[in-house]
Amino acid sequence: MSRVLIVGAGLTGSLCACLLRRALQNQVHIVVWDKARGAGGRMSTSRPPEPSSHSADLGAQYISATAAYHQSHHSFYAELLSAGVLRPLECPVEGLRPRDGGKDYMTPLGMSSVVKHFLSESGADLFLEHHVTALYRRGASWEVERQAGGSETFDAVVLTMPVPQILQLQGDLGKLLSVEQRQQLDVVSYSSRFALALFFPPDAELGVSWGARYVSDSSCIRYIAVDDRKRGAGAPGRGPTLVVHTSVPFGLQHLERDKEAVQPLILQELSRLLPQLPQPLSIKCHKWRYSQVQTAVPDCPGHMTILDQPPLVCGGDAFCHSNFDGCVESALSVLAALEAELRGHAPSGQ
Ligand code: FAD
Repeated sequence: MSRVLIVGAGLTGSLCACLLRRALQNQVHIVVWDKARGAGGRMSTSRPPEPSSHSADLGAQYISATAAYHQSHHSFYAELLSAGVLRPLECPVEGLRPRDGGKDYMTPLGMSSVVKHFLSESGADLFLEHHVTALYRRGASWEVERQAGGSETFDAVVLTMPVPQILQLQGDLGKLLSVEQRQQLDVVSYSSRFALALFFPPDAELGVSWGARYVSDSSCIRYIAVDDRKRGAGAPGRGPTLVVHTSVPFGLQHLERDKEAVQPLILQELSRLLPQLPQPLSIKCHKWRYSQVQTAVPDCPGHMTILDQPPLVCGGDAFCHSNFDGCVESALSVLAALEAELRGHAPSGQ
């Protein structure tokens, strides 16, 4: 049985784990490491500090499929709909551009439930707070080092984190990249933004009619959502939660500042836009240094194979585009690259 390490418990990593399991069944032992304390990556759902408030999607908000992707990725949508992970987005989203034949979905339990669904289907062993710092080729295996100390060996490794974080890895990766691959990775760029979640008490009235709104008259704030309303209904007895995303120019302007210093600027602008807001119980601020891909790997190949044997493959939204369907495309492409190598690796008779 091949031991495969997937680095990153975001959407691409969870899909890679699930697709590998379905393709290779008991020929693979799949292990997922993520440096964060929870699964989800940029599809993260943040728990409220108080149990009386609703959780908050700090990153991705909903899933929008074009008609073409809705058809080509039909099996993924059908699976998530039948599992109750996705439901049609019904709340009004002011400023959402209408698209021909496309579909919009929300996640009643938060965006991280999509990632958790695929992780659970994969049967992978998930280890959180496992920050990979280096990869070394040891004959037919990879030795993978963690920040906390210690290392483990695997027969294949899949890297699904944002490209700048892939390029930070120490060890043999840098030496194995061809000049062309290095150039392709170097052009990848991401937008940056801050996200704020405001958690309110159960009796709070926010005084807005929409579930979410794209803001066009602010240089600081681009998007605001009443997270519980966006998801169809709040949990009984829990207060509403407001999620705010800043604009990309604002994110870039304040990128190197601490989020604690930037939070008051966002709150000040929020009170200009929504002066009637009551006092929240608590506030969380998050800096998305790597938010959405602005320049993808040229020609969007879906994945990049750095070494065939032992396999080392990169995937993620940077190899396609930044949304659900981009991650599905990337995971399908990673699977195609790995499957043949891993089948070849399995002992005969399997
Ligand atoms: P990630 O989610 O970034 O996963 C990579 C994982 O790798 C992370 O969990 C990280 O902790 C981990 N990691 C990084 N370095 C290491 C390391 N050295 N060791 C171990 N683990 C590591 N998409 C939509 O479809 N709809 C939306 O509405 C939408 N809105 C968005 C709004 C925002 C603010 C953001 C930030 C993104 C949004 N997106 C949206 C894009 C979508 O979230 C991403 O395209 C998708 O989540 C990317 O998934 P991924 O698995 O490729 O990468």
